[in-house]
Amino acid sequence: MSDIIYMDNHATTPIAPEVLEAMMPYLTTHFGNASSTHPFGVTAKDAVEKARHQVADLLGCSAEEIVFTSGATESDNLAIRGIAYACQEKGNHIITSTAEHHAILDTCHALAAEGFETTYLPVDKYGMVSPDDVEAAITPKTILMSFMYGNNEVGTINPIVDIAAVAAKHGVLFHSDAVQGIGQLPSDLEALGLNLASLTAHKIYGPKGIGALYVQRNNSQPHSLFYGGGQEAGIRPGTLNVAGIVGLGAACELSKKYMETGKSSVATLRDTLHRKLMASLDALHLNGHPEQRLPGNLNLCFAGVQSLAHLAGLKRVAVSTGSACDSESVKASHVLVAMGVPNELALTAVRFGLGRYNTAEEVDIVADEVIKVVNRLRALAPE
Ligand SMILES: *Cc1c(COP(=O)(O)O)cnc(C)c1O
Repeated sequence: MSDIIYMDNHATTPIAPEVLEAMMPYLTTHFGNASSTHPFGVTAKDAVEKARHQVADLLGCSAEEIVFTSGATESDNLAIRGIAYACQEKGNHIITSTAEHHAILDTCHALAAEGFETTYLPVDKYGMVSPDDVEAAITPKTILMSFMYGNNEVGTINPIVDIAAVAAKHGVLFHSDAVQGIGQLPSDLEALGLNLASLTAHKIYGPKGIGALYVQRNNSQPHSLFYGGGQEAGIRPGTLNVAGIVGLGAACELSKKYMETGKSSVATLRDTLHRKLMASLDALHLNGHPEQRLPGNLNLCFAGVQSLAHLAGLKRVAVSTGSACDSESVKASHVLVAMGVPNELALTAVRFGLGRYNTAEEVDIVADEVIKVVNRLRALAPE
């Protein structure tokens, strides 16, 4: 593995050494249940509350506004379904977009089957939602809108502040799947204008299986999806994942530190990779917005070369396709389809996700390998 270069940081990130170090005591000696009142419990509870403050500090919110979950899929479900149930006296209409993560789309589909009304707004050719479209879609029955911060496939950053202004003007709650954005982009949720936001530790150099939902105070609180204990104000019962929570807190604090310096260097590496590929390969097509894009994201279509062939050919590079595939069929990514990328071209997409630990040397190696593989595969392809 060690000779394979990891450039798939939108799928998951390696755990930061500082984060692992912070977690270790809570996997060993400090194993207490944070709900216990004896010293083992108090030690665990103190660690959880410290982490809650670390998360809140990154998000510019108060610690009581953080609900720990098992990750962003759960946070998305809790936000959408929990608010839908909590607000169903007011209305039954939810607005989202066609380019969202499946955790949002499939939750909305499930609610539609229960009688809720759902609108999926189109996105532009960059994958961006238009605030004017949002405003036009609002009805007296609209209770919630959900639009992601940065897109996990093409990196496009939605105009969150402008959408939030529309939401506030019409008194509609605004949730964002902010997994790709928090810790990389401005993360002050109040300044962004969000009422609810989902995040997950494993996309910001923390462990898998732990995340959070931000729920603004003095607004509707989501109904719990589970029944059980009274943890997390009853919104999310279940024994707290203390080590995971400590890891999420440490990851948030570390991201905040890296943001000023780290962001520009990741974007610089990404731009270098893009430039090198463009200099040696023609018929490259950039997916996503050229500027309003996550710093580490480079999603490219290589006309004439199917992305699966890429993955087979790239032996020393861990990247991902822009398409979801199962063993039998290859399907173009729903995000690229939503952006209007022709199906045949969409099937050639490769997503490079650069991160905190990538180096300039790695960019050189990856560029050389991609150029070699694409040239070889294009030479084999029929005219
Ligand atoms: C990774 C990801 C998720 C899912 O997060 P999990 O913690 O793995 O459930 C949701 N939304 C976006 C945008 C993501 O990138």
